[in-house]
Amino acid sequence: MFVAIDHVQLAIPVGGEDLVRAFYAGPLGMTEVPKPDALAVRGGCWFAAGPVQLHLGVEADFRPARKAHPALVADDIDALAERLAAAGAPVRWSNEIPGVRRFHTEDPVGNRIEVLASPADRAERPCAAAKSGRVPRRNRSPTRPGGREDARMERIRNAARSLRGLALGDAFGQRWFFRKGEALVDQLAARRTPDESPWHWTDDTAMALSVVRILHLHGHIDQDALADHFAATYTADPNRGYGGSMHGVLRAIHDGGDWREITAAQFEGQGSWGNGSAMRVAPLGAWYALDDLDLVVEQAALSAEATHAHPEATAGAVAVAVAAALMTAGRDRMAPDPDVFLGQVADHTPHSEVRGALRTAASFPPATTWLHAAEVLGTGKRMSCPDTVPFALWTAARHPDDLVEALWTTAFGLGDVDTTCAITAGVVSARTDLDRVPQSWLTAAELLPAWAESGSTTH
Ligand SMILES: [Mg+2]
Repeated sequence: MFVAIDHVQLAIPVGGEDLVRAFYAGPLGMTEVPKPDALAVRGGCWFAAGPVQLHLGVEADFRPARKAHPALVADDIDALAERLAAAGAPVRWSNEIPGVRRFHTEDPVGNRIEVLASPADRAERPCAAAKSGRVPRRNRSPTRPGGREDARMERIRNAARSLRGLALGDAFGQRWFFRKGEALVDQLAARRTPDESPWHWTDDTAMALSVVRILHLHGHIDQDALADHFAATYTADPNRGYGGSMHGVLRAIHDGGDWREITAAQFEGQGSWGNGSAMRVAPLGAWYALDDLDLVVEQAALSAEATHAHPEATAGAVAVAVAAALMTAGRDRMAPDPDVFLGQVADHTPHSEVRGALRTAASFPPATTWLHAAEVLGTGKRMSCPDTVPFALWTAARHPDDLVEALWTTAFGLGDVDTTCAITAGVVSARTDLDRVPQSWLTAAELLPAWAESGSTTH
C-alpha cells in the first residue's frame, strides 16, 4: 500500500537548469529546494510547493515528455493561468471531463504539465451559485454594514448577475451561428434547444471576463491594464471566435505595441466600429448601477476605446452599459415600458447611428414583431454596433422579466447571434439573474471561473 507520491521526476537537457528555474520558480509559483550534496553533482534541480515535489534531472539524450506529465492541483487555477499566459507559456483549457476545470501548459523545454482546479474551487462553480442566486459563503468577506467593502461586494454581485446571463446568452446564441437551412428554422420555430454539450461561450464572454477582472482589480477601467488583459486572454485561448480584425489587434498588443496606435490605425485610420465593444460591456453597467449614469457613460467609453477607436463603437458600448445599469437599479421595481426604457438609453448615448436606431426602436408600436424589428434595425450581419445593439436592446426591453423569452426572440433574428444574445442576456439578467432558466440550459452552459462570482483577487 502506498500513502503518497513523494515526487515526480522530469527530464531536462544538459545545461537547462536556468531555463527551467525561470519557469518553475517563476510563474508556476514553486520554490527551489536544494538537492542533497551527493546528488547535486549530477546537475538538475528540485522544486516544491506545499506537498508537491518535482525533480528535474539532466538527461543527455533529452526529449521533452509531451504525453507523460504530472497533474498538479491549484488552489487558484485562474490566477495561475493568467500568470503563465502573461509569461508567454501556453495555456490550453480542456472541457473534456465534465465538472473539472483544467488546462495543459509546457515548461520551457517542452515538458507537458497539467493543472486542475482544487475540489474547493470546483464546488463553487457558478451553476451552484447561480441556482441559489448567492455568492458562495466561503467568499463572503467580513464587512462593516454600509462600509466600502459592502459596496464593493454589491458591485461584484451586480456584475456577476449580468455576466452569468451574458455567458449563457453567448453560449446559447452560438448554437445557432453555424446551423443552416430548414433544420435551423424548424428547430428555432419549435424552440428546441440544441442537444450538443457543453455550450461553449465565445469571445464575447472571454472579453467580458477581462472587463470584470479589471473592475475587481482596479475598481475602475484602467485602459492599459484592460488592453493587456484582453491580449493575454486572447493569446492563452485564441480560438473563441474573435472577430476578424481583433486577431491582429490583440496579437499586436500582446507583442508590446501601443494599443492607442494599434486601434487608431484600424480600417485605414477610422478605427473599428465592430460590435466587440458592446458585446462585453453589460457587466460594467451593472457594476456602476450604484452610481450616477454619467460615470457609466464615461467608464463604458473607456472600455470601448481599448480595442475600438470609432465613435460608433463607443456609442454601442455606452448604450449597452446604460441599459444594464438601468436594469440593475430597477430590479425591485416594475419594469419600465419598452419605449420609455429605450428612450432613456438613447438619452445617455452619444449622437450616433446607434442612438438614432434606438430612437427608432423606441417608436415601434407594442404589436411590432421580431421580424419587423430585425429587418429595420439589423441583427449584426455587418457585425457593427449600429446594426447589432439596437435590436439586442429592443428584445431586452420587450422581455425584461423573462430571460428565456428574450433569448428566443433574439435568436430568431439570427445574424451575429452569439453577440446579440450576449448583449440581450447581459442586460436582462442584470435584472432577473438566471431565474426561470431551465436546468438543462444551466447544465449545458460552459462554466465561468470562480473568481468571476467571488471577486477574489488573491494570486
Ligand atoms: Mg462571439
